[in-house]
Amino acid sequence: MELVEEALSGNRRALARLISQVEDNNSLAAQARSAIYSHTGHARVVGITGAPGTGKSTLASELAKAYRHAGQTVGIVAVDPTSPFTGGAILGDRIRMRDLAGDPGVFIRSMATRGSLGGLARATADVMQVLDAAGYDIILVETVGAGQSEVDIARAANTTIVVEAPGLGDEVQAIKAGILEIADVLVVNKADRDGAASTVRALQAMLDLGAAPRTILHHGMTMTVGVPIPPSQSPDFALPWRPPILQTVALEGRGIGEVVEAIARHQGHLVESGEGEARRRARVEADLVTILRETLLRRLMTNLAPADLAGMVDRIAAREIDPHTAAEELLAQRP
Ligand code: GDP
Repeated sequence: MELVEEALSGNRRALARLISQVEDNNSLAAQARSAIYSHTGHARVVGITGAPGTGKSTLASELAKAYRHAGQTVGIVAVDPTSPFTGGAILGDRIRMRDLAGDPGVFIRSMATRGSLGGLARATADVMQVLDAAGYDIILVETVGAGQSEVDIARAANTTIVVEAPGLGDEVQAIKAGILEIADVLVVNKADRDGAASTVRALQAMLDLGAAPRTILHHGMTMTVGVPIPPSQSPDFALPWRPPILQTVALEGRGIGEVVEAIARHQGHLVESGEGEARRRARVEADLVTILRETLLRRLMTNLAPADLAGMVDRIAAREIDPHTAAEELLAQRP
C-alpha cells in the first residue's frame, strides 16, 4: 500500500492520514493493519492514566522531553477528551507543551472520542500499532482513569503509570475506579502542594495491605489477585513487582528523571521475569478471540437473509421454539 509505505518512510502527513483510516476502521483499515503488522514490536508503550487535573498531560510532555534529550523519538496519543493535546490545539499556559509541537521527533495524536468505549480501545490499539510501525521509540498514551476502557487501553501498554495529586481524595477515587490495579508505577504529581506526603502514605498503606488488587492476564483471561502476588500462586511471574511511588512537580520538570528510571526498571523486570512475554501472548490471544468473534458474527449476519431472521423471531415470539434452539438451527443452516 502506497500510503503505508509513505507513512513508514517518515512522511508525517501520510502518517496522519493512515492513522485516520485505521481510526475510522474503514475498508482500507484492514489492509493497512496487515501491511504494518510485521513492522511493529519495536516501540515501548507507556500508559499514563489518572483523574482529570492530576497533571497527566504536563507529565506526558515532560517525559517526552526527557526521552527526546536521550535521543529517542516519541509518539503521544491522548485518549483523554479533557487533555490539552486533544483537538490538536495546545492551549493557554501550556507553553512547555508547545516545545513539542515543532519537534520532528515527536508525533502527537488525539483520539476522536465518538463511538463506543470498546471501539475506542480498539482504535487506540490500532493507532499505537501504526506509530510503532512508523518507528517511534516510545509511545505515551494518556487516558482519564475511569474504568474498564482504561483497563483495556492499559493492556496495550508495557508500563502503566497511575497519576495522583494531593488533596483531591484521589487515592480513594482510584480504588473505586479500579485504576490502581493496573499501576506499574505510581506518581504523586503536584508534590509542591500540601498533602503530597499524606497521599504517598495512603498509597503506600494500600500497597502494604494488599488492598489494591492487581488484574493480570492469564491465558487470555483477566484475573484479579492480591498485591504482592504470592510467588506460589503466580507461576508465570516468578518475580513480583511492587509499584514504586514517586513524587513529581511536572510543571517544573522536577522528579521526571526518577519516573524515566522507574519505567526503565519496570521494562527490565518485564523481560527478566518473563512477564512481558506472558502479557504479550495473553494480549495477542485476547485480540485474536475478539477478532474471531467479530468476524464470525459479521460473516453469519451477511449470509443470513433478513426474512429468515424475521421468520425465526416470529417463531420464538410465538413460543414455537426457544432462542437457543433457534440460534443452533440458524447456525446449522449457515456454516
Ligand atoms: P490532566 O488533566 O491530568 O492532563 O492535567 P494537566 O496536565 O492538564 O494539568 C492540570 C493543571 O495542573 C494545569 O493547570 C497544570 O499547569 C497544573 N499542574 C501540572 N503539574 C503540576 C504540578 O506539578 N504542580 C502544580 N502546582 N500544578 C501542576
